[in-house]
Amino acid sequence: MTASPATRTPGLRRFLTQRPPQPERCELCAVAVEAGHRHLVDTEKRALVCACAPCALLMEQPGAAAGRFRTVPARYLTDPGHRLDESAWEALQIPVGVAFLFRNAALDRLVALYPSPAGATESELEPATWTDVLGGSRLAELLEPDVEALLLRRTDGRFECHLVPIDICYELVGRMRLLWQGFDGGAEARAALDAFFADVARRVRPLGEVGHP
Ligand SMILES: [Zn+2]
Ligand SMILES: [Zn+2]
Repeated sequence: MTASPATRTPGLRRFLTQRPPQPERCELCAVAVEAGHRHLVDTEKRALVCACAPCALLMEQPGAAAGRFRTVPARYLTDPGHRLDESAWEALQIPVGVAFLFRNAALDRLVALYPSPAGATESELEPATWTDVLGGSRLAELLEPDVEALLLRRTDGRFECHLVPIDICYELVGRMRLLWQGFDGGAEARAALDAFFADVARRVRPLGEVGHP
């Protein structure tokens, strides 16, 4: 697995380079949108676009816009029974304690994305690594390509595994890039990360409580 600059990689471009203009607008119908609005993935341009609630709902319908725009789901799930451990983390070769894993359907690639001083770092995962680390994982089975990510965190030998909307991944790595200082990110970046995980913890529902969607 090799890391490569974000600009040449199979993830999404939005949030990696510049902040969106203010005020934000729905990129389909141009109505102004509030903070906390939904996003769509433009699978042709591999970009995240802002959406108002009606456009996000419309694009959730099968066949909408011939499948080009896909609404990022709002669900947050966690798997308290995950089997992520030290050896799995080593197999991923992620140099920091947080990573997002997702599947790019058009390119048929598995991608690991993580924060770094330079912004998001993306690397392609070998299918065998994915299987070794996530084989049998219920969250990996539920994961929607392009629009959702598995969020992994390692703190003091403890591991967490959540399924989250993909837009929050890009928002986090963008924020981390702005705050990052020194070798390990510094106090401000760590505080931002803790706030991010506190928010995720408030939103997630454990798999056991969730029916089969
Ligand atoms: Zn709209
Ligand atoms: Zn937006």
